[in-house]
Amino acid sequence: MKRKSRPAAHPTSVGGPRVRGEAVITLDAGMSTHVGMARSENQDSPGMFPADPSEPAPRGRLFVVADGMGGHRAGATASSLAVQTLSDVFFSSTSPHTVERLREALHQANKVIYELGTSDRAFTGMGTTCSALVIAGDAVVFGHVGDSRIYRITRKSIEQITDDHSRVGELVRRGIITKEQAKVHPERSLLYRALGARESAEVDVAEAAPLHFSCWFLLCSDGLTNHVSDPELQSLVLSKPPAEAASALVEYANQRGGSDNITVIVIRATVTQS
Ligand code: MG
Repeated sequence: MKRKSRPAAHPTSVGGPRVRGEAVITLDAGMSTHVGMARSENQDSPGMFPADPSEPAPRGRLFVVADGMGGHRAGATASSLAVQTLSDVFFSSTSPHTVERLREALHQANKVIYELGTSDRAFTGMGTTCSALVIAGDAVVFGHVGDSRIYRITRKSIEQITDDHSRVGELVRRGIITKEQAKVHPERSLLYRALGARESAEVDVAEAAPLHFSCWFLLCSDGLTNHVSDPELQSLVLSKPPAEAASALVEYANQRGGSDNITVIVIRATVTQS
């Protein structure tokens, strides 16, 4: 397959046991980002923190996907600012609560992007989606703005745990169009929430069900989900180790046209009783 710029895969793994009572939770993750087959610039940014998978993570491990928008370089700047600010603030916050640390990090990322976008003409109008997942012990917390997505996947199910803050997402929730119609809708890229678009951002931050059973998480930009259905996502995630699955998903979206930048993080959380 023809590739337009940087290689598809940037596999990284995280591991190490987390102990909760008698359960041991082991994480393995991989990520991949690609410009796609139609765009000239990759404005998506992924992140996994701590970057060194062997580093202890008492505050949990943070995974982020951001999909920037704006003119030349502005979208890429917005998404990379979101990922970096999220990590900096999340791990340095003095709040003892994961939900509050993540909320603080999202609001600070909004502020940093908004201020650059309103002070430098080169960055006017920039913004970004941001979907972040924290796994700390058996606790799972997510923060989200925009139309990137987080899925929780088991062998029997796939569930999108984030809402799409988009015009078509709203139409799907109201039953006016189907998920499949949304993928080709002319207004599919219209967001009603993004980081950096306004002085203050409305962000979703919530705790998800704790890790009592092994499962997978998938974080991705819309460049993946515009081309790949939920059942296909599930079967590809289950078919390979996380780093290989992330690369395979990017390849799959590119084979179907790669109409947008594609970014994927796959996390396998294995829960075993010791
Ligand atoms: Mg996109």
